[in-house]
Amino acid sequence: MVDQNLESKSKRIPVLAISRKVIQVISFFLINYTALELIFNTDFSLLQDIFKVLPFLHSAKGSWTVGAGLLEYSFYTIAQGEIPFFFVGVIALLGLFGGRIFCGWVCPTGFIQDLLYGLGGDTKRFSLEVDRSLKKVKNFGLIVLIVLILPLGIYRSISDIVKYDDYSDFLGNLTDNILAPISLSEFLFVTFPGVVQSIIDDVNVQVLFSEGKAWSTVLFFTYIIILVITVFWPRAYCKYLCPYGAAISFSARYSLIKLQRMPTRCPGRKECGICERVCPVQVRILDEDFSGFTGHGECNLCLECMEKCPHDAIKFKFGV
Ligand code: SF4
Ligand code: SF4
Repeated sequence: MVDQNLESKSKRIPVLAISRKVIQVISFFLINYTALELIFNTDFSLLQDIFKVLPFLHSAKGSWTVGAGLLEYSFYTIAQGEIPFFFVGVIALLGLFGGRIFCGWVCPTGFIQDLLYGLGGDTKRFSLEVDRSLKKVKNFGLIVLIVLILPLGIYRSISDIVKYDDYSDFLGNLTDNILAPISLSEFLFVTFPGVVQSIIDDVNVQVLFSEGKAWSTVLFFTYIIILVITVFWPRAYCKYLCPYGAAISFSARYSLIKLQRMPTRCPGRKECGICERVCPVQVRILDEDFSGFTGHGECNLCLECMEKCPHDAIKFKFGV
């Protein structure tokens, strides 16, 4: 029975997957509009005002940009000694009303991970326990960043400029961009193109091993390793490291947009289990509440499970 359904399903055009790819490509070019500028040899800087507050880490223009995402603005506000009610509120509302749909359909960093994953032939999965533990790493990372930036805000709010300056010196470049070291988008759209450009200009790889930049070198190769991992473990960065993913998952777990599974149509994991095998973020769909699930805020609504389910047992749900 499953085989028959699978066969008929495999003949259908994967409308959702194609739609998602089209939206990802359009988003990629709009958010990284420097690519459009290069292609059309024109100035799209007007787009900067539109895209710089989208919830991505460093949206567009590499080292030339002043664009930033909601999380950058949140950290900036904390460093100014204020509580970022507005930016955190927007992130929370996005998660509440849209879950992590940005991650699945819009985020250019997610899109690149999807492309890389397409290169690998074989999906690898961590065990349930390892996956659950690793997913906590990004939450821990976010907390560490908040703890690191908080003294700046405290010194600023009590007007202790000497301590503020001392701590700012201690943080160095992190004062202005605390997210940079753990931002894959910073690496993809700022660091990596810059390094490649230097290598092309100087015709050597000296830029990678400059004196006094050991941390940059370590980070560079760490990100290369992360990207290689992503070829086999889909969305590895999103799942385990992305600070925006960590921030939005708190409200996304209560998202009004979610999925539901109809148990009357679903024969279960032993007989089928396809949905879980295709899920890029390893949601244990069959262990989730069938009346509505968000994968504890990890589901990015890519809809792979819905499209691949041979029994059409997975549907959208809107509501609590
Ligand atoms: S549960 Fe379904 S929609 Fe959510 S991430 Fe997994 S495959 Fe995509
Ligand atoms: S919900 Fe999952 S296990 Fe159930 S029929 Fe669909 S793909 Fe198979």
